[in-house]
Amino acid sequence: VVRESGGDAMAQAPRSKVRLTHPDRLYWPDAGVTKAGLADYYAEVWRAIAPFVVNRPLALVRCPEGIAGQCFFQKHVWRGAAKAIRLMPDPKAPDDQPLVSVADLDGLIGLVQAGVLEIHPWGATFDALEQPDQMIFDLDPGEGVAWPEVIAAALEVRARLAARGLESFVKTSGGKGLHVVAPLVPKADWTVVKPFTKALADEMAKDAPDRFVATVAKAKRTGRILIDYLRNGRGSTAVAPYSTRARPGAPVSMPLAWEDLSPEIGPAHFTVLNTVARLAALERDPWADFRAAAKPLPVPASRRRKRD
Ligand code: ATP
Ligand code: MN
Ligand code: MN
Repeated sequence: VVRESGGDAMAQAPRSKVRLTHPDRLYWPDAGVTKAGLADYYAEVWRAIAPFVVNRPLALVRCPEGIAGQCFFQKHVWRGAAKAIRLMPDPKAPDDQPLVSVADLDGLIGLVQAGVLEIHPWGATFDALEQPDQMIFDLDPGEGVAWPEVIAAALEVRARLAARGLESFVKTSGGKGLHVVAPLVPKADWTVVKPFTKALADEMAKDAPDRFVATVAKAKRTGRILIDYLRNGRGSTAVAPYSTRARPGAPVSMPLAWEDLSPEIGPAHFTVLNTVARLAALERDPWADFRAAAKPLPVPASRRRKRD
């Protein structure tokens, strides 16, 4: 029986065999979320998060003492990592430390055991590391930008993608902004996808220079929204849907339906504390059709290569 995520699929959470040490350690002291609480959260959202974290290289924000302690952004493994955490050499950099990934819930709970509070996957799977299966537009509001303007920016990215025949989905970042994500059939290489995203960001900045910028230079960002396309290069990452953030309040990056966007739902509205109830109340995961909506980007003839 195939069940949709959301609704009753959330009723029975799967279990992990990974043993947690110090289950009562407070990872988010302000929100009262412990290590065990985080493990329960990920078990509850497992079906929804799995397609976005399994079988992909991961960068991780690790805070072994919780958000009050020191955090490390890391792409490589640590001492004592759970066996369920997989290590795979990067075929393009075989001498580097291997890439980190998970294949199942035990891997995800292995991350929790190690104090991982943010999961940042590549936009590609190990099945096709050179051909991304998604594009992401990270909307970063500068100083003085009101939330409805960020929503308008997301809708504009959506419309420009739709004009190119691509469907897109929106999520809160759990921080300050929104992320618009377009699923791709993994055909075009990073070297094609990144310029595509840059062209779209540049176009928005050119058409409305008072609203948008496409370059990271801080000075230009006051009162404007950075259309950050730089998450779309090989080895770049963005926070996963349903991942928690190592920020006060235990926020999560929450997938939304487009019609959910509203001034009432700010970028850090959803947290470890209210997400499971939201999913249980939803008729349907707003991103249920994400993979089915994937389209290939046109591959320029000059870059076409033989693939199996
Ligand atoms: P916000 O809404 O606050 O912008 P965000 O997740 O979009 O939240 P950004 O600062 O826009 O945050 O993007 C940071 C991205 O850069 C992350 O998604 C992460 O994958 C990547 N990154 C690269 N280096 C680091 C680092 N040292 N610490 C955190 N993120 C890093
Ligand atoms: Mn951002
Ligand atoms: Mn950014």
